Amino acid sequence: SMNASDARRWMERFFAAFDREQQALTDLDRRSGDGDFGANLRSALNRARTALATADTATPGDVFDVVSTAFLNTGGTSGPLFGMWFRHLAKATRAETVGVAELARGFADATATVQRLGGAKPGDKTMVDAMVPAAEALTAASVGAPGDLREALTAAAAAARSGADATADLLARRGRASYVGEVARGVLDPGAVTVALLTEAACP
Ligand code: ADP
Ligand code: MG
Ligand code: MG
Repeated sequence: SMNASDARRWMERFFAAFDREQQALTDLDRRSGDGDFGANLRSALNRARTALATADTATPGDVFDVVSTAFLNTGGTSGPLFGMWFRHLAKATRAETVGVAELARGFADATATVQRLGGAKPGDKTMVDAMVPAAEALTAASVGAPGDLREALTAAAAAARSGADATADLLARRGRASYVGEVARGVLDPGAVTVALLTEAACP
């Protein structure tokens, strides 16, 4: 199961993965959008890191709330969407320890909210292309006998990564990449790649 310290370590691994990939993510947004994705994420994650250093977090939900607020205070299209994603993950994880069932519900609610707000469906070449398979993998792992959390998160990470990889071949129907059409064909969606980094960071 996952407690607040586990959730903090998850977020710290996510921050570190982003540090390594910031330039690559910026390059993807430069080729398919306006090139500010890395800077937008950087400012959200710096704010999250600073806030977490002094925050009292008794549950994983408290940790995700801090990250949510940092994203909601960030510009770009991705800031508010990631902010609402973390806010709904937080709502489902307000217990001292959470397991596959809570995380599955959190990912599902969070992803449904992003889809409702942004109007993107799977296949539109957005962050949703990695969020939906990750949520589905956790839901599948939560059905029947309560499964092992690490195994479930590993499956979710693999699903998110293949969803992100598949965005290269897609033609964008949402966001700035939809303005450039075929020019962004062959380019991974930076939002989807970030969701892959996030879910991979959950299972070191
Ligand atoms: P902007 O396009 O405003 O500069 P960012 O660069 O911060 O925004 O974020 C771009 C990312 O936002 C894309 O890679 C994509 O994953 C995501 N995105 C854009 N539009 C949508 C949408 N309608 N629904 C879901 N995600 C979206
Ligand atoms: Mg951008
Ligand atoms: Mg922008």
